[in-house]
Amino acid sequence: MHKIVSFTFDDVDTSGLTNGRMILDNFGFKGTFYISSVFFKEVDKDGIFNQIEFQNCIDQGHEIGCHTFSHLHFHDIYKKYLIEKDLERNNRELKSKGLGKPLNNFSYPFGEQTVLAKKIISKKFRSGRGTFPGINRNKVDLYSLKAIKLYESINSLQMIKASLYDLKKNGGWLIFYTHDVQVNPSKYGCTPEYFSSVVEMANEKAFEVLTVDESLNRFSF
Ligand SMILES: [Zn+2]
Repeated sequence: MHKIVSFTFDDVDTSGLTNGRMILDNFGFKGTFYISSVFFKEVDKDGIFNQIEFQNCIDQGHEIGCHTFSHLHFHDIYKKYLIEKDLERNNRELKSKGLGKPLNNFSYPFGEQTVLAKKIISKKFRSGRGTFPGINRNKVDLYSLKAIKLYESINSLQMIKASLYDLKKNGGWLIFYTHDVQVNPSKYGCTPEYFSSVVEMANEKAFEVLTVDESLNRFSF
């Protein structure tokens, strides 16, 4: 019975690329960073800082995933070509920033899984991660992977511990996701202390901690 934990980040905020990534590095774990390239420009106008952090992330062997270029609202888009164009743009941007590997996995911005988006994503990626809570087990929809928020103001460490206990007892694939990892986190993120505690809880013999791409290789869906 597989008992797999994945740590994923959406967007990705610089503090996720630095603090989040370094905490995983300290434990020898790899994460999956679903990037919307538009945020490179918004966070840091000349892009130098993020470029370095992005490169560090790649060099340490973490997985880079796709989150659309412009953090699309799929609920507002009805044209296939607009989604495809945006996905291609993200691909191009990340390649131009040094990404040597293909983007194999996707996460839906705002968790918006429309029929059209799912159809496109299922043709281009190995998986699509959403924001519906839960552990992936039994009949898994690879294009609607469940995930548990590491939003410190919402999910207490006690609740996270209970999810890990469930995984230990019943098996499956538990995907965590967050955004920023900093001292004063947004409501979509957590502090480095909180993130470390979760990684520490996942660091036990019962679990394998893998990227999304590696996890998919473990299952025969
Ligand atoms: Zn996002």
